[in-house]
Amino acid sequence: MASQGPVNPSHATFDLFVQAQTCKDVKHHFTQLCRQLEIDPKDFGSFYAKLKERLNYWKAKALWTKLDKRASHEDYQQGKVCTKNKCLVLGAGPCGLRVAIELSLLGAQVVLLEKRETFSRNNVLHLWPYTIYDLRELGAKKFYGKFCSGSLDHISIRQLQLILLKVALLLGVEVHTGVEFQGLIEPSGENGWMAKLQPRSHPAAAFQFDVFISAGGGRFVPDGFKHKELRGKLAIGITANFINRHTAAETQVEEISGVARIYNQKFFQELLNETGIDLENIVYYKDDTHYFVMTAKKKSLLKKGVIKQDHNDAEQLLAPANVDYEALCNYACDAADFSTGGQLPDLQFAQNHAGQRDVAMFDFTCMHRAENASLVKERRGKKLLIGLVGDCLVEPFWPLGTGIARGFLAAFDAAWMVRSWGNGVPHLKVLAERLYQLLSQTTPENTSKKYAAYSIDPRTRYQRVNLSSIQTHQVQHLYDVEKTHPSFKKQKESSLHMRQDSAGGSEELLKWCQKHTAGYKNVNVKDFTRSWRSGLALCALINHFRPDLIDMSSLDESNCVHNNQLAFSILEKELGIPPVMSPNSLANTDHIDKLTMVLYLTQIQSGFALPKK
Ligand code: FAD
Repeated sequence: MASQGPVNPSHATFDLFVQAQTCKDVKHHFTQLCRQLEIDPKDFGSFYAKLKERLNYWKAKALWTKLDKRASHEDYQQGKVCTKNKCLVLGAGPCGLRVAIELSLLGAQVVLLEKRETFSRNNVLHLWPYTIYDLRELGAKKFYGKFCSGSLDHISIRQLQLILLKVALLLGVEVHTGVEFQGLIEPSGENGWMAKLQPRSHPAAAFQFDVFISAGGGRFVPDGFKHKELRGKLAIGITANFINRHTAAETQVEEISGVARIYNQKFFQELLNETGIDLENIVYYKDDTHYFVMTAKKKSLLKKGVIKQDHNDAEQLLAPANVDYEALCNYACDAADFSTGGQLPDLQFAQNHAGQRDVAMFDFTCMHRAENASLVKERRGKKLLIGLVGDCLVEPFWPLGTGIARGFLAAFDAAWMVRSWGNGVPHLKVLAERLYQLLSQTTPENTSKKYAAYSIDPRTRYQRVNLSSIQTHQVQHLYDVEKTHPSFKKQKESSLHMRQDSAGGSEELLKWCQKHTAGYKNVNVKDFTRSWRSGLALCALINHFRPDLIDMSSLDESNCVHNNQLAFSILEKELGIPPVMSPNSLANTDHIDKLTMVLYLTQIQSGFALPKK
């Protein structure tokens, strides 16, 4: 006998919602479900509770169990901690959706805006173990049965967005697609902070909020934030997606979870000899599509006619007019064919959002990261907390799969910051606690392995976090208040006072550094910038506490980069403290950021204070 579907219409709609494979369908079935159960999705405070009460369906119950477990975490204070907060989240990429979920668990009203109508990115994201754990605990497998089965550790961007969208909607997040954020509107009259939207008459334009989280991806940075550019050597990435028909032959082809030239010279040499394709690395993952990402050498792209004319400037080099699309398709196809040993029977391109063959070439030469993760604006006495998460905070290097891992960590950090905001912690303290310098150095190795203990509290995830290492006066510049407001005067006075007070709260740390580096040749610690340039002061600190780790007589003051690299490696290996800048940046006084250095030295101070392992 054929199996019977559910007879209750809301149960059937719930099934359709869970299985929906497009953003449009998810939203449609969700609206239908709300209608059938007579629940107002705008009633965010009690939406989830009502849904649970009215949808008495065994399949839904398995999901409620998961979500209830998450919601019962003490950090959320039973969903009461942010009930007075109204949050606008920009971007329904994975990070915007992930942070929206956390904010709703904290009890805030959350409105999320997305300019696109569809989720169309086939590209596949590598997931660190903690993100797999996190997503499973949010019920990912209920929405996408194949989610990270066996040893799979990746998922397409669109599938991830679909999972998170469903969870966000169930928890009462108001999601609007097809609406573009164009800037903030300052408070006026009775109105608080609002957003300028396109279309202008969109209902969300009337939403007033006190928290704005930007997860607009890539280089989208709201006003007031500065971006740093980290320039590496020219790196050209190619992504390609081929149709996966899920045949037995396709299933058998082995994935390539990352092969780099330095580890397999033979493979890359053969590829070059046989096809003329010269790569640094290649990754192949299977999901909805067969997905390949590779870093290609410029010379071979020129030779194969993919790039028409050579230019030193990467932007000019990869400008659409300088790329032969047909040749690019052939290049990607040949690389895919060779690297899978010709076993993928029919390499036919999948389609991208524009209905074209899904192949793209990107410049990885410059990576951007924001200088700060948050700031507070105040106008007419109304404060707005602004935070960045995801790619707009730290741009990931795709082949390393840092996008989602660091993106989710930042989403949790941002949620922790909003929690403090909701708890009435003074705004400068909220900003000071938001230590994001740690984020861009995180790896699966140096983050806690206790995934079940991960929460929005940074201390559950990062090793050696000191939430009070940054003093409030050090983040004064992140508080932007209009000049006529009385608190501007207060701020000016207090920052003057702080400056007169020399390094203020960091003075203790400076004294500690001076005490433990005193007497070392060519070491004279006077500040948190210039004094550390040669690397000798860092090495001296290490030598003072652990003379067995560094032979000071072997070091040369002029060999700054080497000294810095040595100190960084030892501190990472012995104390588990990841470096916060490159040896080159530290060797170059123009690039030393005082805050970063204070944070790094604070970690070192607490590291040496602990008993030796
Ligand atoms: P995104 O995923 O970029 O999401 C940002 C969202 O904000 C988008 O949906 C965008 O439409 C929306 N948005 C932007 N501006 C506005 C606005 N003004 N108003 C409203 N909405 C707005 N990573 C990999 O590991 N491997 C890959 O192969 C890979 N391919 C990628 C291909 C593309 C085209 C892009 C853009 C990114 C790719 N990434 C890849 C990066 C990866 O997608 C991100 O690290 C990950 O999605 C997390 O990003 P996010 O949520 O911060 O931002």
